[in-house]
Amino acid sequence: MFCNSKNDPNEKTPNINICPVCMAHPGVLPTINKEAVKQVLRVGLAMNGTLADYSEFDRKNYFYPDIPKAFQLSQYEFPLVSGGSLNGVELTRIHLEEDTARSSHTNESDHSLVDFNRAGVPLMELVTEPVLHNAKDSGAFARELQLLLRTLKASDANMEKGEMRVEANISVSKNKGELGTKVEVKNLNSFKAVERAIDFEIKRQIEMIEKGESIVQETRGWDENKAITFSQRVKEEAADYRYFPEPDLPKLKLSELPELSVDNLQETLPELPQAKRERLQEVYGIQPEDIEAYVTDTKLCDFFEGVVMELTKAEGEDIAKHIKLASNYLTNNLVALRGELAEHVTKNIEHREFSELVLLASQGDISSNGAVELISYLAKPHEAEQSVRDLAEEEGLLQQNDDGALGEIIESVVDANEGAVQEYKEGKEQALQYLVGQGMKLSKGSANPAKLKELIKAKLG
Ligand SMILES: [Zn+2]
Repeated sequence: MFCNSKNDPNEKTPNINICPVCMAHPGVLPTINKEAVKQVLRVGLAMNGTLADYSEFDRKNYFYPDIPKAFQLSQYEFPLVSGGSLNGVELTRIHLEEDTARSSHTNESDHSLVDFNRAGVPLMELVTEPVLHNAKDSGAFARELQLLLRTLKASDANMEKGEMRVEANISVSKNKGELGTKVEVKNLNSFKAVERAIDFEIKRQIEMIEKGESIVQETRGWDENKAITFSQRVKEEAADYRYFPEPDLPKLKLSELPELSVDNLQETLPELPQAKRERLQEVYGIQPEDIEAYVTDTKLCDFFEGVVMELTKAEGEDIAKHIKLASNYLTNNLVALRGELAEHVTKNIEHREFSELVLLASQGDISSNGAVELISYLAKPHEAEQSVRDLAEEEGLLQQNDDGALGEIIESVVDANEGAVQEYKEGKEQALQYLVGQGMKLSKGSANPAKLKELIKAKLG
């Protein structure tokens, strides 16, 4: 945030990405990372927050081994963003600070270890108003925030890598509209942990209040294995930190930085998740589950929209049906193909090919299984000049719909299965299934079963 040490969450060797600035050696001078300021302002703008015109960094003084300076550079009175909301959850503020080092405590030894690679990494802190009332909504908010950060490319926001962490403040009160004493559960690093910790804490506080005990304002940790929160330290009051403006950094007068103006930042915003949901629903009328798949996977969404473009070029009026079918193959069938193949679909299959495949399936020229087989085939690197119909024929996946060719098959089936024919005529529906099965066998699987069934029925009256 204030030096040019590498920010690499994957670095396994401790204390490599450090320098005199983040190690706070005497005489060093910090410099503000403009890109980090820009990303926080973009996030604020995406949430309709008010961007600060004036901002500054403050020293938050405390002594702890994870911060060698004995103060953290943060923002106190003048955060970069105030207000705003995300899917109805109101925000208080968003500010920027430096992350601290990572300490590891082991039970085996009498000392702790500290890795400064993370020290000095830009850390955006976003605070919501106390408007979330249960674990489920809180988890949903955290997921939506992660999606937004990824959509904005402000962060990869991988919780397991510590790129996003949640600190849940929980308070319970007997009186509606009144907030009880809050307890902060620190460093929750999975959505599941967020939800479980909040549920646990709500229950714990209710039990205490009902027993007539009072809640202590404190910081608690989360024990994943025992699924409980535990007391870490009694919370310091804000005054304990003795905040004061960092004298070694210039004040930020954002109106003097044209590249960080609202207009210029606005231009850098991609389509945001909620707007995308609404558009996909309105334009394509597809299932909510399909929409979520596209909102979380931009590549898949771009591929889908490319295929739709091709489908609209094709003749035929059933465009809505074709779009739904295409989406179904992309979302449902790709789940079955998950793993590396799913990635290869968007990389190796041309929009034209996928749309041809959808049309073949829609006309009954290939079966559903045939379509999945073709997708698997096309997902591998291939020459793209061939038509998908030709490919389906080569692979023996084209279903016979031709009345003439199917007529010959039906003749043979009827001649060879007098017993079943008789049973069907006496009203046994199962016999028809048997005859269709025989026909499929005779066609070596190439007949369209629906068409075959229809023709046998017609033949037998
Ligand atoms: Zn550094």
